[in-house]
Amino acid sequence: MDNRKLTVTSPLLPPLEEIIPYLEQIWESRWITNGGQFHQQLETALAQYLGVEYLSLFTNGTLPLITALQALHITGEVITTPYSFVATSHAIWWNGLKPIFVDIDPVTGCMDPDKIEAAITPQTSAIMPVHVYGTPCNTERIQEIAVRYGLKVIYDAAHAFGVQKAGKSILLEGDMSTLSFHATKTYNTLEGGAIICHSAEMKQKIDYLKNFGFEDEVTVMEPGINSKMDEVRAAYGLLNLKYVDSAISRRKEIARQYVKGLKGVEGIALYQPIVDSFESDDLKHNYSYFPIFVDAGRYGMTRDDLYAKMKAQGIMGRRYFYPLITAFTPYRDFPSAAKENIPVAERISDSVICLPMHHELSDVDVYRVINCIIL
Ligand SMILES: *Cc1c(COP(=O)(O)O)cnc(C)c1O
Repeated sequence: MDNRKLTVTSPLLPPLEEIIPYLEQIWESRWITNGGQFHQQLETALAQYLGVEYLSLFTNGTLPLITALQALHITGEVITTPYSFVATSHAIWWNGLKPIFVDIDPVTGCMDPDKIEAAITPQTSAIMPVHVYGTPCNTERIQEIAVRYGLKVIYDAAHAFGVQKAGKSILLEGDMSTLSFHATKTYNTLEGGAIICHSAEMKQKIDYLKNFGFEDEVTVMEPGINSKMDEVRAAYGLLNLKYVDSAISRRKEIARQYVKGLKGVEGIALYQPIVDSFESDDLKHNYSYFPIFVDAGRYGMTRDDLYAKMKAQGIMGRRYFYPLITAFTPYRDFPSAAKENIPVAERISDSVICLPMHHELSDVDVYRVINCIIL
């Protein structure tokens, strides 16, 4: 119950006095962006921490999605999920491609592999699934389908920092994975992101693409973009990396408290992958979110009424993901965006609230949230 003690071990922001020496070094070197020392160091440190070989830093988590599609020369249609942050579909749109929406698995919230094949057409060239709330997709099934139809797989792993299955990083799955280091994510560099790929040649290409396509001073290999991470964010990221293990273990504690407090509450369903993760040797979860699902009939209150009740008590829940991507103007008229095509996503999106979850959340605040829901 000691808020002060918690902020020492897993602060939301790294201590100011620790960032100053990094800033002094940047100012002294007068090298503030374009692959400086901290950029190099953070790429190496993150690859090592995450257990991957080829990682390229980006200035946010959306440009990696856009760049991954470009690097793989994806054309035509991309099979994706309506149950994600809107950036997943926007990245497809920004490449002049067409997102095709398929429904999700009712337990994990990730793309349902059983729905993929029916959505494949001669125009399909890639699948872009999302590891929702950090829970791994059914990567074996997706890979099997991708191989059979000759499709590329790009995982939006924005939620899945540090997640491992059978002792291996989930980021090793598919052709590429992308991360977001936005301030709201489990690990942040203020804004930032990365692409994880699986060969030195591909990393080289991605590194050119994030710098306008420049191969050298006089050669541009393809129309690239500017999405380089600067030195201040890279230094902040290096510093923050020291705290990420304690951040994830605090989040795990909070998740346990939520499960204990809310288990068996009539009309409130917990997110089973998190409940199961405590007993699992196979899955290392990162507890990036704590979703609950409100069954209005049994709980006696609608999801939106509970959301409003929480808000009135100063508790900021988040209806994440609501609305679905398929409800937004740019996508809602797509045939695959029809409600009948994605009934599971519709149902889950209408019942979800993600409870407050961050590593500086005190025990007192966790109990306040639980009491708000059960009383
Ligand atoms: C946060 C997020 C993104 C976008 O990342 P930014 O760093 O905010 O650009 C993309 N996809 C998902 C699933 C996300 O949660």
